[in-house]
Amino acid sequence: MTGRTGGTIRPPGRPGDLLCAAGAGGMLPVLPARSLARRHGEPSPALRPGLQDPSLLVGGRGPPERRAALPDRAEVAIVGGGYAGLSAALTLGRLGHAPVVLDAERIGWEASSRNGGMVSGGLKVAASALERRFGPERARRIALAAAASFPFLEATIAREGIACDYVRCGRFTPAWSPRHYDALAAQVERIAAITGLPAAMLPRARQREALGSDFYHGGMLVAATGSLHPGKYARGLADAAGRAGARLVDRVRVAAIREERGGFRLATDRGEMRADAVLVATNGYARGLGGASAMPWLARRLVPLASYIIATEPLGEGVVDRLFPGRRMIVDTRRILNYFPPRPTARACSGAGARASEAGTRSGRRPCCTRPWPRCSPS
Ligand SMILES: Cc1cc2nc3c(=O)[nH]c(=O)nc-3n(C[C@H](O)[C@H](O)[C@H](O)COP(=O)(O)OP(=O)(O)OC[C@H]3O[C@@H](n4cnc5c(N)ncnc54)[C@H](O)[C@@H]3O)c2cc1C
Repeated sequence: MTGRTGGTIRPPGRPGDLLCAAGAGGMLPVLPARSLARRHGEPSPALRPGLQDPSLLVGGRGPPERRAALPDRAEVAIVGGGYAGLSAALTLGRLGHAPVVLDAERIGWEASSRNGGMVSGGLKVAASALERRFGPERARRIALAAAASFPFLEATIAREGIACDYVRCGRFTPAWSPRHYDALAAQVERIAAITGLPAAMLPRARQREALGSDFYHGGMLVAATGSLHPGKYARGLADAAGRAGARLVDRVRVAAIREERGGFRLATDRGEMRADAVLVATNGYARGLGGASAMPWLARRLVPLASYIIATEPLGEGVVDRLFPGRRMIVDTRRILNYFPPRPTARACSGAGARASEAGTRSGRRPCCTRPWPRCSPS
């Protein structure tokens, strides 16, 4: 949902029209749990890896079925109907083109409906070692391009009237150790300069102004972060793309993309389609099931990561305000990080990266997520 979802890579030696839009993070197994109060390792039988708690989806149902017919040809075929594909479709539609979005599942169903809903841009890049690698000028341009995704997303939501509970809430990044605190302090000016919005350090003695826990060692407050409901945003983006002239076709899996004179031929499980240009926005799913892939060039370049999200029972407004004063997004500084996006529905969601070896397991790192609040640990 950040500009991170809009990156494009161009296969060397391939025609200029075949683009791959890469979402951040690849597609990761999401292990939901109905409650932190449940023993880890024993999620509700109604929930399983990869399936989101229905109450976190729009209206408790998830994205709607669209069932549009597959056209014979398209000016631009976009494979993948998540944020990357939909945002591209909206932009192309507004520029007067007629894109067709093809998705194997329901439009917006995958990572774009089940994520932390944290919106930012440029924070990681501003603070990274890009300068050493690319030199100051190129590093600055990369950071500014990444930071521009934040106002772009805010402008899109406002212009299209997308009702996705968006709030510019800011972020608190609590430091895992005193050394991490110092590292944050060294980045703070640069982040403010890149985002054009305030950033400041909050020492440990004042940490409770941002987080109802003494677990961390102070941290950094950043204004350039927002929060949204991921499923509602995906649906709103799809509707906006449709209004701009994009055709959205769900339940159609692209099995192969072949170049031919003047364009491309897409083989799908609902027949063939021709397109003048193709944009691939399939996220980690480009790897396909069982090793088969419509995009082998892209699939070979994907690195799988593991990640999960846990949602608590609704906690009530008072508890959420005590745990997250100011209701900022919380993202800690660990390499395999924990993040806590308090939801407007007075739930708390906790997400975390996971070790690759934990992918697909149920126990994951749940106890780690609750460490800042020992009394909330799974019973
Ligand atoms: C647990 C978790 C938490 C996250 N939290 C955040 C966060 O807080 N903030 C943030 O900015 N990002 C977050 N992300 C990342 C974010 O969700 C993704 O970067 C973003 O949704 C990717 O969008 P996308 O359009 O690239 O991919 P997706 O939304 O995954 O869409 C790809 C689509 O391609 C379709 N597809 C794949 N193969 C084919 C095929 N052969 N034919 C037709 N269709 C195909 C799929 O069905 C799918 O709908 C998180 C991700 C996860 C997993």
